[in-house]
Amino acid sequence: MSSAAPVVIVGGGWAGLSAAIELSHNKIPVTLIEGNWRLGGRGRTIRLDNMEIDNGQHLLIGAYNETLRLLELMGHKESDLFDRQPTLLHSRAHRLSGFRLALPHIAAPLNFLFGLLGARGFGIRQKAAIMQLCLTMNQCDFAIDPDQNLSTWLQQNGQTEKIIQQLWQPLCLAMLNTPVDIASSEVFLRVLRDSFTLKRDYSDFLFARHNIGLLFPQPARQYLEKNDATLITSERVQCVEQTANSLFTVRTKRRSINGMHIVLAVPPAQCLALTTNFPALTPLHQQLRRFKTSPITTIYLRYPTHVSLGQHMLGISGGQLQWLIDRGTSEQAGIMAGIISGPGPHMRSSKELLAKTASAEVANLFPHWPKPLQVSVVREKQATFLCESGINHFRPDNETAFNNLWLAGDYTNTGYPATLEGAVRSGVACARKILQAIHCHDH
Ligand SMILES: Cc1cc2nc3c(=O)[nH]c(=O)nc-3n(C[C@H](O)[C@H](O)[C@H](O)COP(=O)(O)OP(=O)(O)OC[C@H]3O[C@@H](n4cnc5c(N)ncnc54)[C@H](O)[C@@H]3O)c2cc1C
Repeated sequence: MSSAAPVVIVGGGWAGLSAAIELSHNKIPVTLIEGNWRLGGRGRTIRLDNMEIDNGQHLLIGAYNETLRLLELMGHKESDLFDRQPTLLHSRAHRLSGFRLALPHIAAPLNFLFGLLGARGFGIRQKAAIMQLCLTMNQCDFAIDPDQNLSTWLQQNGQTEKIIQQLWQPLCLAMLNTPVDIASSEVFLRVLRDSFTLKRDYSDFLFARHNIGLLFPQPARQYLEKNDATLITSERVQCVEQTANSLFTVRTKRRSINGMHIVLAVPPAQCLALTTNFPALTPLHQQLRRFKTSPITTIYLRYPTHVSLGQHMLGISGGQLQWLIDRGTSEQAGIMAGIISGPGPHMRSSKELLAKTASAEVANLFPHWPKPLQVSVVREKQATFLCESGINHFRPDNETAFNNLWLAGDYTNTGYPATLEGAVRSGVACARKILQAIHCHDH
C-alpha cells in the first residue's frame, strides 16, 4: 500500500495536465505519464518542415475561464499570452456574397443584437429571422430536449438555406467540428449561451501570442516540476491492472506504477483499450463505443514576413478553406493558417493537392500577394469527437464503477464540444472529486 503513488495520471493532454495542476496546487503528489515526448496532446506544438508550429490552429475565447484561471494560478498574465479582441466575424467568398458581424463593446446579449443589426451581408428579412431565433433560444434558456440535429432545428425555427450556409454552418463547424446536418443542437446552444449571453467579454477572441506549446503545456510542465510532480514522457501505458488490494497498476514497457487513484486522461478509444479487461466497466465501454472522430486539416502558407491579412482572421466560403488566420500575433509574421474543419471530400486529397488548392484559393482572394514560399499540411484525422445530436447522453462522468479509477478528457460530461476549455474543465472537475475522496478517506 505504501509503495503506491497517491495519484497517477495517464495522458498529458490539456485534461491530464489540468488535473495534475489542480492536485499539485492542493499539495497532492502526482505522477503523470505521457506517451508522446511533448506534452499537450491534441493541443501541442510540433516540428514540421523546419518550423515549430502548432499541430493545428487553435482559437480560444473569453468564455474559457477555467483555462485562464489555471494560467493565472501558474503565474501567467492573460495579456502576456493573448491578444484579446472583440468578436469580429468577417467572411469573404469565392462565389457567394460574404458577411461581416462585429460585436460592439456593450453588455451581453445587447452586443450581439446590435452587432446583428449592423451586420453586412444579410438583408432585413434575414436579420429578422436571426433575431427571432435568438429570442426563441432565450425563451427556452438555450436548452433543447430531446436533442436533434442542428439543421433541422434551424429550419424549424425559420432559418433559410442561405442563412444556414452563410452563418450557422461555418459557426457550427468552427465550434463543434461537426457538419450542421448531424450536429447536436444541445451542445451548439450551450456554446452560444456561454459565449454570447453571460458576460460581454466571454465572446472575445483570444489570439495566442505564442505557439500553443508555450501557451499551456510548457507553463504546466514548469509548474508541475516546481511542485514536485513526477512527469514521465515518451512512455505509453500498455495496460492497467487491478492488484489484490483493489489498487490499480499501470504498466509501460519500462515500469509498473501502483496508484491509490488512477486518472485515465486519454481519448475514448484509448480508454476502451486500456480498460477492456474490467467487466465492471461494460456499461462504460458501451458509451465509449458511441464516439466517432472528426478531422481538422490545417494548411500553413508561409509568405514573406511583410505579408499580412490586415486582421486576425477571415472566414472564407465557396472553396475548401473555411478560415484563414494570420499568425503574426503568434510571433510568426507572414504565416497564414488555412483551416478546414470536419470531414469532407478534402480528406481524400493528397497533401500536395491540398497545398495547391489552398494556395490557389488564397491567390484568388489576395491576387496582390506573392506566391507562398512554403506550404505545409497538418492533417489531424482524430482531432475531436464528432459532436452528433444525442451525444451528451453517452458522455461519461469523471467517476467510474471503481472508486479509485477516474476519467478526464474533452469527451466527458462537460456539456461542451471537444475544446481546450472542455478538456481543462474535465481535468479540474476530476481533480476536485479525487481531492474530496482523499479528504473523506483521511477523516
Ligand atoms: C487541429 C486541431 C485544432 C483544434 N482547434 C481547437 C480550437 O480552435 N479551440 C479549441 O478549444 N479546441 C480545439 N481543438 C480541440 C482540442 O485540442 C482538444 O479538445 C483538446 O486538446 C483535448 O484534450 P484532452 O486532454 O481531452 O485529450 P488529448 O489531447 O487527446 O490528450 C490525451 C493524451 O493522452 C496521451 N495518451 C493516449 N494514450 C496513452 C497511453 N496509452 N499512454 C500514455 N499516454 C497516452 C496522448 O498522447 C495525449 O497526449 C483542436 C484540436 C485539433 C487536433
